[in-house]
Amino acid sequence: MPVLRLAIPSPLRRLFDYLPPADISDEQVHGLKPGQRLRVSFGARSLIGYLVCLADTSEVPETKLKRALTLVDEEPLIPPTLVELCAWAVEYYQHPPGEVFSAAFPKTMREGGANRLEGVPGWRLTDRGLGLPAGALSRSPKQSKALAIMRCEEAVSKTALMERGISQNIMRELEKKGLVQKCLMPPPEPEFKPSPALEPTSEQASVLRALIAHSEGFSCHLLQGVTGSGKTEVYLQLIANCLQRDQQALVLIPEIGLTPQTLARFKSRFAANIVVVHSGLTERERYLAWEAARVGNAQIVIGTRSAIFTPLKALGVVIVDEEHDSSYKQQDGFRYSARDMAVKRGQIENAQVLLGSATPSLESLYNASRGRYTLHRLTRRPSGSQPPNISVIDIRRSELRAGMSEDLMAAIHDTLCKDQQVLLFLNRRGFAPTLQCHSCGWIAECQHCDARMTVHQKPASLQCHHCGANAPLAHQCPQCHSGDLITHGLGTEQTQAYLQQRFAQWPVYRVDSDSMQGKHAMQALTESISGGKPCILLGTQMLTKGHHFPGVTLVAIIDVDAMLFSTDFRGDERMAQLLTQVAGRAGRAQLPGQVLLQTHYPDHPLVQSMLTLDYTEQARHMLDSRLSSGMPPAGQLLIVRTDSESPLEGERFLLELERKVRNTMPDEIQLIGPLPSPMQRRAGKFRHQLIALMASRRDAKALAETMVKEAELGKSSNKLKWSIDVDPMDLY
Ligand code: ADP
Ligand code: ZN
Ligand code: ZN
Repeated sequence: MPVLRLAIPSPLRRLFDYLPPADISDEQVHGLKPGQRLRVSFGARSLIGYLVCLADTSEVPETKLKRALTLVDEEPLIPPTLVELCAWAVEYYQHPPGEVFSAAFPKTMREGGANRLEGVPGWRLTDRGLGLPAGALSRSPKQSKALAIMRCEEAVSKTALMERGISQNIMRELEKKGLVQKCLMPPPEPEFKPSPALEPTSEQASVLRALIAHSEGFSCHLLQGVTGSGKTEVYLQLIANCLQRDQQALVLIPEIGLTPQTLARFKSRFAANIVVVHSGLTERERYLAWEAARVGNAQIVIGTRSAIFTPLKALGVVIVDEEHDSSYKQQDGFRYSARDMAVKRGQIENAQVLLGSATPSLESLYNASRGRYTLHRLTRRPSGSQPPNISVIDIRRSELRAGMSEDLMAAIHDTLCKDQQVLLFLNRRGFAPTLQCHSCGWIAECQHCDARMTVHQKPASLQCHHCGANAPLAHQCPQCHSGDLITHGLGTEQTQAYLQQRFAQWPVYRVDSDSMQGKHAMQALTESISGGKPCILLGTQMLTKGHHFPGVTLVAIIDVDAMLFSTDFRGDERMAQLLTQVAGRAGRAQLPGQVLLQTHYPDHPLVQSMLTLDYTEQARHMLDSRLSSGMPPAGQLLIVRTDSESPLEGERFLLELERKVRNTMPDEIQLIGPLPSPMQRRAGKFRHQLIALMASRRDAKALAETMVKEAELGKSSNKLKWSIDVDPMDLY
C-alpha cells in the first residue's frame, strides 16, 4: 500500500505519513495525485491535509501508521505545477509545509468544503475522459453519446445535456468511472465594446516585439520605464496577445485599493472575464475568483501578493508591476517574496514573466546584468512631456512654518495661481511624532514598545505606529502635572491644517492611511482631482503608488532629511526609488514639472545624486557598493529572529544557535549577532536577531536548513518565538 505524504496545517516543518483511507477502491488508491485533499486525524483533531507525494515506505513503523479518514477530492483542485511551486517554497523559505499549501486554497477549501459549484452547473471531461478513444463505451449507447457530445465542447451545461436526451443519471455513471466531472459553465461573454489599444510608440513597439517573440515557454524580462512612459500599455498589449493564444494572464500589483485607475483601464480594454483577488474580498468572493481562475473561466487575474498562489488552467504570462515594491515580501508568518515566486512559477509552468518598474530593485537589475533577465527600456513619455526639473531648497537657518520654508510657500502659491496642482510629500501621518512636557521634559512613550507615541488630533489621541496602542491625548503631564505640553516634529495632519489656513481659497487633500479609510476613498479622491482644478495634495508614500495626477506640476518633498540617515542597508535604494517615484508624478501632461527637495544637507551624496543622476546611474553606484560589501544582491542574507517575554531568553537562544551552527558551517559565512533588534521592544516583546551573510546560494540553503533544525531542537520555552527570514527586506 502506498504511503501518503501530507502537508498538514501545523507549525511543524515536516510532512506527515498516512495510509490511504479505508473506504476507497484500489483504483482510487492508484489514482491518488499530489494536490488532493484528505481529511486526517491529527492529534486529537480532524484536519485537512494536502497530498504532496506518494512513497513506498515510511520511517514510521507500519503498525503506527494511521489511515487517512477520507479522500475529499476525486481530482486534485490545484495543478501539479502549483504543488511543485509550493514544495519549492517549503524548501527555499524553510516554512512549515502545511502553512505553505494552505496559501493555495481559499478558506472554505482549507476547511474541507466541497467544491460547491456556483452559477450554471455543467459537466466537462476529465483527463481520463479526454484520453478515451472515440467509440469507447459502445456497450452503453447513452453514455457513449454523452461522451461524444462532451468531446466537442469545453463544457456542457446540465440543461443542454437534458435537451439532447442525456439525463443526470447517465452523467453520474460517467462520473463514477472518472470520465467526467462537474464544473461551472464559463459565464456568457460580457456585452460591451472594449476600448481599442493605443497605437504603440516606437519604443513600446520594439519592446512588445521582443516580448512577443519570447511568449512561448519560460523567459524572464525586466521592463524599466520612466513614470508615464507607457508600461501599463505594454502590459495590456502583451496580455491581449496572451489571450489570443487562449492562455491566462496573472498580474500582480502592490495594493488594490490604491489603484482604481489601473483596474478600470484593464476592465475597459478587454471583453474578457477579469477577476480581482485581494484582502478586501469576502470568503465567498474569494472562492468564486479562485474557482474561475482555476477552471479557466477567468482570463485575467489581477491581485496583490497572495494572488501568486492562484491556480490557473493555462498560464501564459505573469506580470509583476512596480516589482521593486516591498509589499511583495510578506513580513510575517510565511515570509515569501511574491516577485521571486512569480519567476519560479514562470519556470515551472513554462510561462513568460515580466517585471516592470520605473525604479527596478537592485536585485532585478543585477539579474538583468547577469543575463538571467532580459532588460527592456522605455525612456520617453508618449505625451512628449519632459522629465521634471529637480532642485534643492536649502533650509538651514530659514524660518519654517509647519515644516515649510517661505521659498516653498511661494512656489506653491505661484503654481496654484497658474491654475495648476501641487503635490507635497511628507512621510509621517498624524499631527506630530512627539509630545513633551515643557516643564519637566517628560515624553509620551509607548508602554509596549521602545518608541514614542504619535500625537493625532482627529480624533484627539496618542497612537503608537508600531503596535497600534492608543491612549487619550494628555493635557497634563503625568509626572509633574504641568499643563504646558508641547509637540515636536510634524505629521500630515498638522501640515494640512496649516496649508488650509494659508491657502484658504484652494482645497487641500490629505492622502494617508488615516484619511483614506474605506474601499472607495482613493477613487473618490482621484475623481475629484482629475478635473484638473488647482489644489494641494499632501500625502505619505501612499501617493507614490502608481497614480496619475496629470494636473500636478509642482512636487515637493518637505522632509528629505528624514530619509537620509537610514541604518538599513537598503536605505539608499528606498530613498532613490521613493524620490524618483514622487518626482515622476510631476508634469505628466503637457505642462513641465518641477520638483523641490527641502533639506538641511544640500551636499549630502544622496541628495546630490538625486540632482545629477538618473535612476539607472544611481542604481549602478548603489549596486557597486553592494557588490563590494557582499550585501544582496551580491550576497545572500538569512535572519533568525526571536520574540520573547524577557530580554535574556531571546539572546540566550540565539547564542546557543550560533554556537551550534558555527562549528558545522563553511568559514566564508559571516554570522552577525545575536544582537538586539533596532527597536528592541515592540508590542511588549523583546526582539533579537542573528544574521548570516554569505556569497553562495547553496551555502544559504544549507545553512537555512541547519539553523531551522537546530532552532527546533533548541527551543525550550513557549514564551519564546523564533522565525527564519530568507532574503529579508529589512534588518529589523
Ligand atoms: P506607466 O505605466 O509607465 O506609468 P502608462 O501606460 O500608464 O505609463 O501611460 C502613461 C500615459 O500615457 C497614460 O495616460 C497613457 O494613456 C498614455 N499612453 C501610453 N501609451 C501611449 C501611446 N502609445 N500613445 C498615446 N498615449 C499613450
Ligand atoms: Zn512634566
Ligand atoms: Zn507600541
